[in-house]
Amino acid sequence: MSEVREFKTEVQQLLQLMIHSLYSNRDIFLRELVANAADAIDKARFESLTRTELAREWQIRLAVDKEAKTLTITDNGIGMTADEVAANIGTIAKSGTKEFINALAEKGDNTDMPELIGQFGVGFYSAFMVASKVELHTKKSGSDAPAVCWRSTGEGSYELDDSPRTEAGTEIKLFLKDDADIYLENWKLSEIVRKYSDFIAYPVILPQVKVNEDKSETVEDRVLNSQKAIWLRKPSEITDDEYKSFYSHLSNYGGTEYLKAIHMTAEGSSEFKALLFLPKQAPFNLLMPDIQKKGLQLYIKRMFITDECKELLPDYLRFVCGVVDSSDLPLNVSREILQQNPLLGKIQTAVTGKVISEMKKLLENSRENYEKFFSEFGKIVKEGLHTDRVNCEKIKDIVLYESMNTPEGKYITLKEYVDAMPESQQDIYYITGDKRSSVASSPVLEYFRAKGYDVLFMTDPIDEWVMQSMFQYLKKSFKPVTKGEFEEKDSEEKIKAAAEKYAKLVDFLKEKLADKVSEVRFSARLTESPCCLIVDNSALPPHMERLFRAMHQEIPVSKRIFELNADHPLIEAFNAKIAAGETSEQMEKFANALYNQALLLEGSPLDNPVEFASTITALLGAALK
Ligand code: ADP
Repeated sequence: MSEVREFKTEVQQLLQLMIHSLYSNRDIFLRELVANAADAIDKARFESLTRTELAREWQIRLAVDKEAKTLTITDNGIGMTADEVAANIGTIAKSGTKEFINALAEKGDNTDMPELIGQFGVGFYSAFMVASKVELHTKKSGSDAPAVCWRSTGEGSYELDDSPRTEAGTEIKLFLKDDADIYLENWKLSEIVRKYSDFIAYPVILPQVKVNEDKSETVEDRVLNSQKAIWLRKPSEITDDEYKSFYSHLSNYGGTEYLKAIHMTAEGSSEFKALLFLPKQAPFNLLMPDIQKKGLQLYIKRMFITDECKELLPDYLRFVCGVVDSSDLPLNVSREILQQNPLLGKIQTAVTGKVISEMKKLLENSRENYEKFFSEFGKIVKEGLHTDRVNCEKIKDIVLYESMNTPEGKYITLKEYVDAMPESQQDIYYITGDKRSSVASSPVLEYFRAKGYDVLFMTDPIDEWVMQSMFQYLKKSFKPVTKGEFEEKDSEEKIKAAAEKYAKLVDFLKEKLADKVSEVRFSARLTESPCCLIVDNSALPPHMERLFRAMHQEIPVSKRIFELNADHPLIEAFNAKIAAGETSEQMEKFANALYNQALLLEGSPLDNPVEFASTITALLGAALK
């Protein structure tokens, strides 16, 4: 069998980028291939728990041939069938490939390539940074499928062929480019492995020539990595580089930069050790389903079980990555049965508490970093306010909001909000909307500004949903400023008086705007603007209405409440005209124009922009005469 197949277009582009990566840190090709080898062994080792005949002495071997200028990386892991080879490293471009290319194009140079390679899961192809040809032999573990050979120069196509390999596992031979001779040197290879792959749980072996006392030479295996599980070590003995390389090995987010490493040692009803990381930067696809939840890596007594244990983290902490190593969970059961083990829930509880308290420490001790972190991941953390009944009070302590009094991009905590409340203020006020600029210009804020009350800006789509279950904080109730009746004891009288004084105008507006608004009334909310629109307590807020409509969802039209400012000269003048019996068409146009400008301030589209524009034009014309 020998068959030539084309690479998918995206893979071809990717390979071109790899082949021509003149600069960038090429060392990482070895990190990627060793990581793949270790993953392959993890899988085989897991299978051998239930099929003991598959157990073997797990190892990754490097071999150098200086004459042929080749470097070979061999593992005795899970291996691949011919179909899997074609699917994994051939025709089928993975979802990350395209994004990888785009991200690289956006950066304009490829100095960040090593970081991006990790981030987008295209590690195998990094072999082409140093090799002009790659030949892979692989045989699937525990299966009768014949061994298969894959070879390519990275230029457009690859070849599938029979392979003489008899042992399960994968061998990858790199024919090094002329300028990549350095990867034939033992010292270089050991340096890279120690730097990037020291914690890999299997020996990475490089045979080395040893000169004996009698000057004869023998070849000896040398293990390059310490294989020390980093999460079992004392934090004080772990270097920054070790943390970084472990983080980049674990993280779905790529890069080596994390915000905080968290060690945990739990004793008692469930014994486990954990090393968790808070990431620094959100990935490009943070809110896409495939990254929604990967979970933590689970080890049992240092044995790798799975790298996607979703039961160890609540959804709203899904950006946390790390390892949990339990001493109590049973080893010899299937993953499905393991997933039902109640101990996982106990571990989740402990991990959740720890992560929240570490976030709080960051907030208290490293405000700037926490704000940056929150601007990336806050919208995910906030889900916990609604979903985690047990911890929601603690989460309230660590969520941040922009507010009327904060500069753009700066945040306050709920505690800071409450502490700054003047004595006369009873409740925590907030406004929801789609962005800061639109909520900040809402006329309904006028009253609060005048009173010296701050208003929280809730501009994440998730906020609306979260607020359904946020009733109180430190015994203060949350109140949306754009909804329903606005109770202000001292203004009751004034409103009553205004309703009487301007009854004619109110009746007129009610009649003319009957199909648009459910009510016309006076409000204490306004100090500068003549009017505004309010939603009924039970109705969806306008930006949510727009969101649903944008998603083509049918939602009922909810009529707004039209609120007027009793102190505004325009209202007085308008009332005077109506009271004097003027009910011309022009008055109706004015009514519509008032309503329409309130709609605009709310951020909603106008029903009839043409009419609005012509009214304004006519008014301008009259004023300029
Ligand atoms: P990633 O490892 O992020 O999935 P890669 O491009 O490095 O991306 O590898 C693609 C896929 O090829 C892997 O997911 C795995 O299924 C397969 N693969 C790569 N190397 C090996 C190996 N040494 N043994 C078995 N499978 C491998």
